[in-house]
Amino acid sequence: MAHKFDPSMLEKLEDPSRLEIFHPEAVLNKFCLKEGMAVLDVGTGTGFYLPYLSKLVGEKGKVYAVDIEPKLLDYAKKRVEDLRLRNVEVLKSGEDSIPLPESSIDFIFMAFVFHELKEPQKYLEEIKRVAKAHATLLIVDWTKIDRDKGPPPSEVYSEDEVKNYLRRAGIEVKRIEMFNKYAYGIAGKINKKGPSI
Ligand code: SAM
Repeated sequence: MAHKFDPSMLEKLEDPSRLEIFHPEAVLNKFCLKEGMAVLDVGTGTGFYLPYLSKLVGEKGKVYAVDIEPKLLDYAKKRVEDLRLRNVEVLKSGEDSIPLPESSIDFIFMAFVFHELKEPQKYLEEIKRVAKAHATLLIVDWTKIDRDKGPPPSEVYSEDEVKNYLRRAGIEVKRIEMFNKYAYGIAGKINKKGPSI
């Protein structure tokens, strides 16, 4: 896996019909995203979901948006400036490193990114580092079935495969939801002291 999104195709991420597959406002409160939280948007891309995340956490909350791709980060930064999203900060991250201090994040959001990670297990350890005790991790990704949108099934993980990555990182799986035939969400509770096996 780890087939990375091609930044020259960024307009694909801007297609408004993507909200029919996954809409943050319709879903994230069910996964305990609350006002005032510090949220990390891993692999923000063009920052498509940032206006929704910004609104959901409100003035007292904060959204950190990270990505490894400079071209996509520039796009996301421009969106944040144009829309004056004052509670959003866009930062360049490394393949397995997040430029944030330990225990600083309440909710980690990864939309259509997990299947692109080179070393998912290593990335989960980095997530555990930046997460506060009992933070929530929500992984939204493409279903591993034939679809008329998104990457081929061979390039994505099934829910069971993601669940196994989480278990090995000592992250307790709390909820799995099929949004539609295209995407699922898997939420885990971070246990910072939990063993990684
Ligand atoms: N989450 C955005 C969305 O749904 O609109 C973008 C999804 S795009 C398919 C996947 C994104 O993950 C790309 O922007 C890519 O650069 C980013 N990405 C891939 N590997 C990453 C990593 N190790 N750390 C941070 N971002 C990564």
